[in-house]
Amino acid sequence: MKTILGKIHLKWCKNCNVPVLDKKCGICGNDTTPVKLTPPADARPAFKEDIFMINNILKNNFGVNENIFKNKIVLINKIPGKDYMKEIIYDGLVFGILKYNEEIKEDNDNEKKWSIIPTVEGARRIINAGANKKIIVIKKDVVPFILKKHASVLRPGVLKVSEDIAKDDDIIILVENEEKNNFKDIHVLGVGRARMNYNEIINSEKGMVAKVRHAETPKEANYLKETGNFEESINKMIEANEDAINKFESNSVGFMRNTIKDRTNMPPVVAYSGGKDSLVVLLLAFKAFNNENINFEVLFTDTTLELPETLKNINDVETKYNINIIKAKSDDFWEKLEEYGPPGRDYRWCSEVCKMKPLEKIINNIYPNGCLTFVGLRKYESMNRSKKPRIWKSPHIEKQMLSAPILNWSAMHVWIYLFKNKAPYNKLYEKCFDRVGCYMCPAMELGEIELIKKLYPELWKKWEDFLINYAKRNNLDEKWVKSGWRWKYKN
Ligand SMILES: [Zn+2]
Repeated sequence: MKTILGKIHLKWCKNCNVPVLDKKCGICGNDTTPVKLTPPADARPAFKEDIFMINNILKNNFGVNENIFKNKIVLINKIPGKDYMKEIIYDGLVFGILKYNEEIKEDNDNEKKWSIIPTVEGARRIINAGANKKIIVIKKDVVPFILKKHASVLRPGVLKVSEDIAKDDDIIILVENEEKNNFKDIHVLGVGRARMNYNEIINSEKGMVAKVRHAETPKEANYLKETGNFEESINKMIEANEDAINKFESNSVGFMRNTIKDRTNMPPVVAYSGGKDSLVVLLLAFKAFNNENINFEVLFTDTTLELPETLKNINDVETKYNINIIKAKSDDFWEKLEEYGPPGRDYRWCSEVCKMKPLEKIINNIYPNGCLTFVGLRKYESMNRSKKPRIWKSPHIEKQMLSAPILNWSAMHVWIYLFKNKAPYNKLYEKCFDRVGCYMCPAMELGEIELIKKLYPELWKKWEDFLINYAKRNNLDEKWVKSGWRWKYKN
């Protein structure tokens, strides 16, 4: 992937076992080590629900019963692309990938749709935690072929397989050892993908049993120390990042003050969406403007497709900071839906109808001479946004200039800043969501839709009922109802 986004900020202090966004740790002063993440590397802290979900999958996949992540900071890094895939990071390294498998059909076996693909280090920890599923034990004499010649696991080299293995499962490859059935990290050779199921393996004498993804000379897992429960760990993370966060804060505050200095005819506005990024912008605006006696308004656009947590968050923010948020609202979605059909990733009329139009109306009313709107746009959030300038004219709303004071912040900067300021962030983030938005946004991955269905079945049913009826009227199939509706022109 190209490096258009600039540097990856995320590093780790292996001494304190905390993520650090700088070269040196703010607690012990030691040098930090880069974490090898997939770009754009916009990792975020995992919340209790994320850990709960990951542990459940580890239990289903590998038979692990203990909480591998207890008393440690865990991060989640969404990998861009079509599928729902997220790297799980702790102890300064990638433990594995959390994946939602779109191709698995059985609706009654929902648990199978979620899996974890461990790294080799992740596999060592899974084995130490007592894993007894998805395991293939191989003979000692085939190890050199796998390590040096990148060979696959062939049937003659297999000693034992766990009964649960199905074709295409992610498996852990162990080397035979004297203490039978008592496997530890030191017996882990690698990770791979099964090419046969259990019955095929035991009933054949040759053939490829598993493709090896990664293999390493067996060694012990490299554990780092515990940092305490969630709150204690967060406090350590804040302390370790104090300088880095202060630098980003003063840079953005300075930028905001300078931006309005040159544009005295343009009153400042903060666009608050109920999301984490615009909450940071709001906090920065208090810091930049309150002592300078500069007034600014806060605007929220209610698409009427918001999740309840978002609407509650708008109230929480008003109460905590004693402000009145101006609300723009459109009630046109369901009416226009009949006319236009479902919005798609390549057909986003919803943004025009539900966001731009109501916002433009309000802006024209309150600011006949225009306004300068600060938004929570960040370049790490999206590859497409990486080349944006920090101030530009809105392409949709004539009287609006836009400005992005946290363009260079990563999600970790955002989260540490919110934790540090005890800011009332949207509770959706504590329910496994990486971002907040409309509950039926076509930009969602199927994994995200699964989360919505679980959390708000009645909201999803309303949308699904529409899709089913629309499909009937337009001769569209089940696949379209399940996932195809998210594109108008593709498929
Ligand atoms: Zn440290």
